[in-house]
Amino acid sequence: MKNQALPTAIGVTGASRGIGAATAIELARRGFMVACLNRNCLATACPEGISGDVSSRLVGVQCDIRDEESVQRALQQANNLGSGLFGVINNAGIASGGPSDTYALKDFEETLRTNVIGTFSVCQSAYPFLAANGGGIIVNIGSFWDRIGGKRYAAYCASKAAVAAISRALAVEWAKKNIRVLDVAPGYVRTEMTADHLDQQAMQEHLKGRIPRGYPGEPGDIARFVGSIFVENNSYLTGTTIYIDGAQGISP
Ligand code: NDP
Repeated sequence: MKNQALPTAIGVTGASRGIGAATAIELARRGFMVACLNRNCLATACPEGISGDVSSRLVGVQCDIRDEESVQRALQQANNLGSGLFGVINNAGIASGGPSDTYALKDFEETLRTNVIGTFSVCQSAYPFLAANGGGIIVNIGSFWDRIGGKRYAAYCASKAAVAAISRALAVEWAKKNIRVLDVAPGYVRTEMTADHLDQQAMQEHLKGRIPRGYPGEPGDIARFVGSIFVENNSYLTGTTIYIDGAQGISP
């Protein structure tokens, strides 16, 4: 029997940097135990200035989402934290691009292996724990590129459309177990994944006109929203994609 007085645990994949790190810290700030499911478990991001109280709720756990055994071990470890697993954020992802007429099929496969099968594998390994704990929330990090034609990024676009589709399918299949599944789809956010692109002057000028809000988002914009999903714990919210893109995806 788990000790219900302890905080519940949430696993965040790819918490070493970017959106994943910001989300892990935000959840720890809000009182959850956070398993930082990182390829290098020592990479748990805990920058200067984070209070000891918050950092004590961030626990590094080795996890490569392409490796099923590593995923299963990591989810078991996450469930051992606090009063057990209440949620998972499937944030880890990769993006590679290139002209589609010559883009290597092995790169396409690698993108799907990480973004799609890796995400599904974490959902699958989290399921028995969430079901046994009375339910919980899975947040898959998709992208607004799931519905727009990103030139040179066919593999990435396809992978994020699949993440949204998996979220819908699991939300329906696992609803009776009180497991809710959401796809949170960011627009441009400045991280290591996008810095080279977003730091170009021409790109900044282009985005000023292209994004109705006028600028790219910050990791904290996504992190705060994901944190609110867990704090609000709205039992009727499931199966949908929520875009956080400054309205870029719907702008003509
Ligand atoms: P970063 O490149 O900054 O971080 C990616 C994270 O994923 C790193 O922690 C990396 O770990 C981890 N990762 C990659 N592969 C694996 C793996 N096999 N197993 C475990 N961890 C892995 O990316 P962002 O923070 O920008 O992106 C986070 C998510 O948000 C991604 O899914 C991305 O597609 C999505 N997104 C990002 C947008 C943006 O503009 N930045 C826009 C829309 C969606 P390691 O340190 O080991 O490399």
